Amino acid sequence: KLIVIEGIDGTGKSTQARMLAEQLRSQGLQVKQSFEPTNGPWGSKLRASATSGRLSIEEELELFLKDRRQHVDELIQPTISSGGIVILDRYYFSTMAYQGARGIDPLEIRQANESFAPQPDLLLILDLPVDLALERVGVRDGQANEFEQRDSLQFCRDLFLSLQDEPFAKLVDASRDIDEVHRQIMENVTV
Ligand code: C5P
Repeated sequence: KLIVIEGIDGTGKSTQARMLAEQLRSQGLQVKQSFEPTNGPWGSKLRASATSGRLSIEEELELFLKDRRQHVDELIQPTISSGGIVILDRYYFSTMAYQGARGIDPLEIRQANESFAPQPDLLLILDLPVDLALERVGVRDGQANEFEQRDSLQFCRDLFLSLQDEPFAKLVDASRDIDEVHRQIMENVTV
């Protein structure tokens, strides 16, 4: 089974991924918790580029695809095939959102990914208004100006919301406290 947690910055994805993994392990299930971009060679390059100046959108997208191919081949597919559960903090829906915000057609991004990356059994969309998200992460000094960041995050939130009618998607209100969000998530997880 593949469970994916998505949402803009500040929605609490990594905390919820950890709580979900702990909960399922305590039920005796085999769980692999992972995230994207990964710590592999392509993912590391992406992370480094975030501080050393951004790549062109084409280079960035190519690195995300390479990183994901490796992730699918080495961790996601083998775990699913052996009957385990994979919990992901970000997947190709984030690429649709963030690289979509940089001007690439999200549908094209989706098709490129679905040619090799399995669709999730469950996509948990952690939803939060952009103002609240920015408040939680703090608008970082010296970074792209606040308005640019706000516009880009609004695009990402809208993209995630547009996925809520997918048969595998569930919308989660991420403005609630951590335990309540965890409860909403557990309501939707059937393993
Ligand atoms: O997952 P995490 O919150 O650590 O992501 C950090 C940043 O990586 C995000 O704020 C976003 O700007 C960037 N990102 C991106 N494209 C993706 C995924 C993440 O630009 N596909």
